[in-house]
Amino acid sequence: MNLSILEKIMKKEPAFRLKQAKKAVFFDLIEDWSEATTLSKDLREKLQKEVSLAIKGEMFASKDGRTVKARIILDDGLAIETVLMKHSDRRNTVCVSSQVGCPLGCLFCVTGEIGFKRNLTASEIVEQVLFFARYLKKENEKITNIVFMGMGEPFLNWENVKEAIQIINDDNCFGIGARKISVSTSGIVEGIEKLAKEFPQINLAISLHAPNDRLRGELMPVNKKYPLEKIFQAVDEYIEKTNRKVMFEYVVLKNVNDSEKQAKELVKILKNPLYMLNLIAYNPNGRFEPSSPEKIKKFKNMLEKGGVFTTQRYRFGSDIEAACGQLAGK
Ligand code: SAH
Ligand code: SF4
Repeated sequence: MNLSILEKIMKKEPAFRLKQAKKAVFFDLIEDWSEATTLSKDLREKLQKEVSLAIKGEMFASKDGRTVKARIILDDGLAIETVLMKHSDRRNTVCVSSQVGCPLGCLFCVTGEIGFKRNLTASEIVEQVLFFARYLKKENEKITNIVFMGMGEPFLNWENVKEAIQIINDDNCFGIGARKISVSTSGIVEGIEKLAKEFPQINLAISLHAPNDRLRGELMPVNKKYPLEKIFQAVDEYIEKTNRKVMFEYVVLKNVNDSEKQAKELVKILKNPLYMLNLIAYNPNGRFEPSSPEKIKKFKNMLEKGGVFTTQRYRFGSDIEAACGQLAGK
């Protein structure tokens, strides 16, 4: 589905027609223009010829049935991955990709390993949501939450991510509330500033993964450009503007970032009632080893004793390589 072509065709029509067409696609979830009965027959036929509603995708479901991964093939043949996570409380979260690959090369991340291919267009981002909205409709369910935690760094493709968020948020389209949308970043400071200004109700997550610049710089090359001091400054400005909690993500790597000393360092830098820490089990990409569950528990206890609100992420879909950092589009 190419939104720019749709918009171009609709320029010749009264303004409300574009709204009707978008509503048919993103709200009524039509899969064929003949179903868009609010539009004239001529217009439907034109759209049928020029704006395809088909999405080329394959699906893989995890054994427990709670995770579904879609591999979507783009018009130029490149592939991206999108993940649906079904929570027990009927929340359905879609984890969306923002780029094909990623230029930032974090050592623990499979997406980083494949390097950067290109940015996704707003249509290609929205299409991922559309794919699962159609899938859930068949089960009489809806997408409730969106996280930009798939392939890529959303703040390095902000204009397109922003346009996609507007459609995801629009009551005439997906109508998913801003508070149900989260953007995760490796710490691109200008992006954090833009989010606070342009979408003060959207949640911010920061990939932290280390308690100091020395280790973070080793794991995440981007830390050299955006060291912790700059990131925390931007995060605190985001909190000041939005009064929202910020989630820090921390992949626990055996003997790399899981020591008692490092837990203490984390306690020092995460002293703020609006900071939350989310510990993530490492999904191996060959470079590190995951910490044992006991070690993670001990690490978590130390943080909690130090007053840091800490959660542990459920490991969705590792058997189908749909877990965090495993998305490769291969
Ligand atoms: N580029 C953005 C958003 C996508 S990554 C960012 O880095 O925040 C989504 C999350 O998965 C990030 O927190 C990332 O650090 C984490 N992740 C990457 N590789 C992982 C791995 N091998 N195991 C577990 N989580 C991983
Ligand atoms: Fe890119 Fe995020 Fe993976 Fe780092 S963790 S390589 S920023 S996708």
